[in-house]
Amino acid sequence: PARLYGQRRNSSGLDLASESVLAALSRVLQASAGREWRAGPMVPGLSVIRPPQDVRNPADRRDLVGQVSLTLERDVPLAFANAARAAAGWRETPPAQRAAMLKRAADLLEGQIGVLIGLVIREAGKSAANAVAEIREAVDFLRYYADQARATLNEAHTPIGPVVCISPWNFPLAIFVGQIAAALAAGNPVLAKPAEETPLIAAQAVSILHQAGVPLGALQMLTGAGEIGAALVAHPDVAGVLFTGSTQVAKLIQRELARHDGPPPVLIAETGGQNAMIVDSSALAEQVTGDVLSSAFDSAGQRCSALRILCLQEDIAGRQLAMLKGALGELRVGNPDRLSTDIGPVITDEARTAIAVHIERLRADGCKVWQAPLGEETGHGSFIAPTIIEIDDIAQIGGEVFGPVLHVLRYARGDLGAVVKAINGTGYGLTFGLHTRLDETIAEVTGAIAAGNIYVNRNTIGAVVGVQPFGGRGLSGTGPKAGGPLYLGRLVRARPALDLP
Ligand code: GLU
Repeated sequence: PARLYGQRRNSSGLDLASESVLAALSRVLQASAGREWRAGPMVPGLSVIRPPQDVRNPADRRDLVGQVSLTLERDVPLAFANAARAAAGWRETPPAQRAAMLKRAADLLEGQIGVLIGLVIREAGKSAANAVAEIREAVDFLRYYADQARATLNEAHTPIGPVVCISPWNFPLAIFVGQIAAALAAGNPVLAKPAEETPLIAAQAVSILHQAGVPLGALQMLTGAGEIGAALVAHPDVAGVLFTGSTQVAKLIQRELARHDGPPPVLIAETGGQNAMIVDSSALAEQVTGDVLSSAFDSAGQRCSALRILCLQEDIAGRQLAMLKGALGELRVGNPDRLSTDIGPVITDEARTAIAVHIERLRADGCKVWQAPLGEETGHGSFIAPTIIEIDDIAQIGGEVFGPVLHVLRYARGDLGAVVKAINGTGYGLTFGLHTRLDETIAEVTGAIAAGNIYVNRNTIGAVVGVQPFGGRGLSGTGPKAGGPLYLGRLVRARPALDLP
């Protein structure tokens, strides 16, 4: 049906089920396979540029994807001075004109989708399907916040001021662009720090936004690691911080912002999860299998929405586990340069080691561990075999494990309430899934679970911009939800009403 979601349509991306699309994409990927990309600080007036460092493909470290020069901490004040100079012009650009630039950027992104897919695959180790989704989501954020700004902002609002955007490597385009689009749409100058692992795709996005008309001073990019983020957050001019990453870093940022002399800057933090799914004996086993595998292992489990704890009613646990292992063993784990790859690498060797240490700790604790076979050609990348671990107690897991590891807990029919309590007891509250055909169970469980995004009889990843606003509760984030109607409201202030006679 036309206009199902109001006046806006999300990006249609690419249909990877179509042979002609696949053939065309393969040609683009082949043509750009050896290309070396460049990134560096995008701060007007910067005089000293550090010598560049290599950025390598996590699926195959022999593949040099490009080079990045890092920002120096001493460059941060210049970036804020540029932002201050650009602020008035950007603030006074009418919301409709700002929105038009964001939409132009969305069209430009869509127009380069083939080449950008290639870059996302090589820099972030994403599968082709994930790379398509990544670009679609970035496009959707641009159009969504553009429309929101046009529809909801007026003379009664004024932008908050310079906004620092700090984004993660797991959605190096979607979340990076989403934060920037929101802050710009609301009229704020932006200082964006992409994840140190994925600066190349970020640089492409910023160039596209500039090409679409956003002034260089209104959108600057500062490459680098945590110390650049810390310097940005500590600067006295910062009016807001949009952060997606770990709960621990979000708390550090909050502490730093509380030290500012002026009014406390705005913080929107989207953080980790310890996401669970409950499956009872009325659920459809085949559907559960597909939904669990995509929830836990898509993107090699490197989504904050990913399923970590599968709670199976004990009567069906054996059969369901056998189906899960059988289906998981059929997935292709390998280099996503092959378009048929289902599960790619994790982002770094350090990440792989941390996940492996976790698996061995639970094995040593006496947990049953099952691992799917790794594909060929995984020897030069940061691969970890998709893993299922049977646990007796959620507390055994410890913190969030950001990789392809699913913990399985069996529960007795009468213990459903206790399971819900244990899930809430983690303190996180991002996504939650429930598979059941019993209406009363749906009402009971969804009413009791403290999570931002609750999914019934489907998978728990891939929230759609504008349709399923995404964000958590408790340790999982501050809200408002990304891609939802309340987000821009945090990035503007109400102008004091002038009561003129
Ligand atoms: N919005 C994404 C999803 O629903 C997850 C975002 C994240 O991992 O940070 O899958």
